Amino acid sequence: MAQVLVIGAGGVGSVAVHKMAMNADIFTGIALASRTKSKCDAIAASVKERTGVDVATYQIDADDVAATTALINDVKPVLVVNLALPYQDLSIMDACLAAGVHYMDTANYEPRDEAKFEYKWQWAYQERFKEKGLMALLGSGFDPGVTSVFATWLKKHKLDTIRTLDILDCNGGDHGQAFATNFNPEINIREVTAPARHWLNGEWVETPALTIRQQFDFEGVGPKNMYLMYHEEIESLKTHLPEIERIRFWMTFGDAYITHLTVLQNVGMTRIDPVVYEGKEIVPLQFLKAVLPEPASLGATTKGKTNIGDIATGLKDGVEKTFYIYNICDHEDAFAETGNQAISYTTGVPAMIGAALVVQGLWKGEGVFNIEQLDPDPFMDMLNQHGLPWQVKELSGPLQF
Ligand code: NDP
Repeated sequence: MAQVLVIGAGGVGSVAVHKMAMNADIFTGIALASRTKSKCDAIAASVKERTGVDVATYQIDADDVAATTALINDVKPVLVVNLALPYQDLSIMDACLAAGVHYMDTANYEPRDEAKFEYKWQWAYQERFKEKGLMALLGSGFDPGVTSVFATWLKKHKLDTIRTLDILDCNGGDHGQAFATNFNPEINIREVTAPARHWLNGEWVETPALTIRQQFDFEGVGPKNMYLMYHEEIESLKTHLPEIERIRFWMTFGDAYITHLTVLQNVGMTRIDPVVYEGKEIVPLQFLKAVLPEPASLGATTKGKTNIGDIATGLKDGVEKTFYIYNICDHEDAFAETGNQAISYTTGVPAMIGAALVVQGLWKGEGVFNIEQLDPDPFMDMLNQHGLPWQVKELSGPLQF
């Protein structure tokens, strides 16, 4: 028996489990299951060495609803924290419903054969979770996750209404490799090569991938090129904060990353439809993932900082104001604390925090919730206490692009 069952033993799962073990007063029992049990065992060994806490480990194929339901019934957690891949979201939600436990994740469900980044499949579970009196908390990572909570915190404390919201995601880290992605390569490349979309006056505006670029000077990192992209939290934020006229998402990429990606795309290596190779069907992007470095292996060599935050412009007492709220995270500090680089750290820590708020009953609800629907205050407090301190400052005016 354990109070929380984490599924997925990648970089994010590793950070979340380490941080749960460091908060044993909140998490009284931790179980970790994944497709490859040896990865769970390696994380459990590191957790034991760093914290003295035991983590129970299991093998599971989370695409198999019956097997996952049986595992949940065996472990008897209050909450399942899904840190596997977006492909597993619906099967794990089905298993949680069958076993009668709460659900949480950090990324929206993705069908394997099409890059969509849409919430419709998970929102369709609303009634089923409600009927069972269970909560599904969606998107408790950094983006979505912290950036969504930053927006609701600004709306609660600094602005009466938000007119424009820009999410700025900068990874100023250098892993020393010619080309690597800092989270699951398949999901990362699907996301980056999808057309850019932003929300403007009640409509989606679509532009080709990686064609709109701006330079921004990020504290702790310096000036970086950032590109307009689609990101899933735009869909949920425009739904839950409907007064926002414009929501955009920007991510920084170095020139070498863009050059490699352009070549890979031009030669067809980022395709997600199967091709026949020596009589066998393979998906080029899945093959590419197999030859790229595992994100979890980048931790030891990555140096530099991430700086991720929101710039929001809106009205306070009838006067227009602009606020910038952000977190800076150091790759080497993240690695020293948990054995993982900052991208996994900035996702795994908010996953631990979301889970803590659910298991303690501080965040409660029946149905499916995106993170911005919940009270931002306890989450923001825990960010400061658990390794992701944030800062907020007023800017002299709105963004000039
Ligand atoms: P990894 O690829 O490092 O880890 C994924 C883990 O899930 C692996 O251990 C993998 O097993 C396991 N897994 C895959 N398929 C199954 C399955 N069918 N059953 C059981 N386990 C399975 O990814 P990350 O740790 O980098 O990312 C984890 C999640 O976090 C992803 O959904 C990603 O999209 C999300 N994310 C969210 C962010 C945010 O800010 N919101 C940012 C970064 C990531 P195996 O080891 O056998 O391959």
